[in-house]
Amino acid sequence: MLDPFDRKITYLRLSLTKVCNFRCSYCLPEGEHWGKVNNLLNVTEIKHLIQALTELGLRKVRLTGGEPTLRKDFLEIATMLGNMPSLKTLALTSNGYQLDKQAIDYFNAGISAINISLDSLNEKIFERVTKSKKFYSILNGIEQCLSLGFDKVKINAVLLKSVNANPLALDEFLNFIKDRAVSVRFIELMKTADGLNYHKDEFISAQTFIQQLLQKGWVECERLPDSGPAKEFKHPDYCGRIGFITPYSNVFCSQCNRIRISSLGELHTCLFSSQGVSLRELLHSSNTKDELKQKIQACLSHKEKSHFLLEGKSGKQKHFSSIGG
Ligand code: SAM
Ligand code: SF4
Repeated sequence: MLDPFDRKITYLRLSLTKVCNFRCSYCLPEGEHWGKVNNLLNVTEIKHLIQALTELGLRKVRLTGGEPTLRKDFLEIATMLGNMPSLKTLALTSNGYQLDKQAIDYFNAGISAINISLDSLNEKIFERVTKSKKFYSILNGIEQCLSLGFDKVKINAVLLKSVNANPLALDEFLNFIKDRAVSVRFIELMKTADGLNYHKDEFISAQTFIQQLLQKGWVECERLPDSGPAKEFKHPDYCGRIGFITPYSNVFCSQCNRIRISSLGELHTCLFSSQGVSLRELLHSSNTKDELKQKIQACLSHKEKSHFLLEGKSGKQKHFSSIGG
């Protein structure tokens, strides 16, 4: 799969639901409940979708949401994908609310890379941002992931002025990764249609944090051809790494290798593309696989060069829970 700018597409972020049990202030401050959602892609439709995509060159799927692990058939979906030989990597992004109980099931299903969202290592601040009381079970779950031997364990933390502008916040994460092989990814807050004022109040650039790290002796890691959008830093005294996802202070679109599909089967060629293209009618049966592949290729021919966030665009995404952040 090549787009018009010769970018090779090998990575899908698949949202399994837009429902979530957390109410992160930058994402779903009012929450999102099952009552508003039905007709999600089922296991068979997902199987047809990924079979077609892997034949086109897809190698990695990340399950995301909303909170993907809320689905009752989550493990069935993960196991089905984990058993697909053509898929090199099955990854998960989760808020980790039941990670302490389920990490082993995720591992056995074939998930090899896991990203847990944890914006603060301070319990009270975590609760303020997420409205969740799961802080300690998430930490416990991360320890289990480390002992189970996942290939990659990462923490996603959104950079927010009221949460981590304080230098102590960076030090808490540094202490945490001193002896743990965890990559912390600080993500610059992205503007969404529902969060325009929030963005104005809370955005902080990653550059200040990068400067602090450099002063503490951290060095930037060499970029490999399959490195994602994060700029990564390492330090000889630390087991873990620190990465930054910086859509504003350093645009990474030229290396984009990904597409997104919503829980209702709409293909988005960019996180910020205003409209998805529905693939649903071609997912019911494997007989329509060729048509499905053609439709996917046709969509890719419209993939835009950049998200144009710097031009002030926020896209029409109300928030990221429907197509997975
Ligand atoms: N519920 C899961 C979780 O929180 O990990 C998966 C879905 S969540 C939408 C995926 C990622 O998007 C999370 O790491 C979250 O922090 C990030 N995210 C959500 N809204 C964002 C925003 N406006 N800017 C930057 N990152 C955002
Ligand atoms: Fe839920 Fe994830 Fe959005 Fe937080 S970031 S509200 S956990 S979907």
